[in-house]
Amino acid sequence: MTRDYDGRKDEIIPAECRSCNMRLICSNCPAWSELETNSLDKKVDYVCEYAKCLEKMFFKRKEKEYEEKVLSEARD
Ligand code: SF4
Repeated sequence: MTRDYDGRKDEIIPAECRSCNMRLICSNCPAWSELETNSLDKKVDYVCEYAKCLEKMFFKRKEKEYEEKVLSEARD
């Protein structure tokens, strides 16, 4: 199947994903795309939403850690 792309690996990556800053943590891949969209190079919306949820949770946790650190330092 990937032979259809004849070594043009970047073209397998969905256009929206090529410049996405979450690409390294996102689990969207050609296999997901093929299963869910019958195409190797389309992003899967629910995989995309999941990655965005992970990002939100990560920043929420970091924000909470920062607030706790600031409060702890203020108490000392
Ligand atoms: S599926 Fe969504 S979150 Fe994942 S790399 Fe593509 S655009 Fe980014």
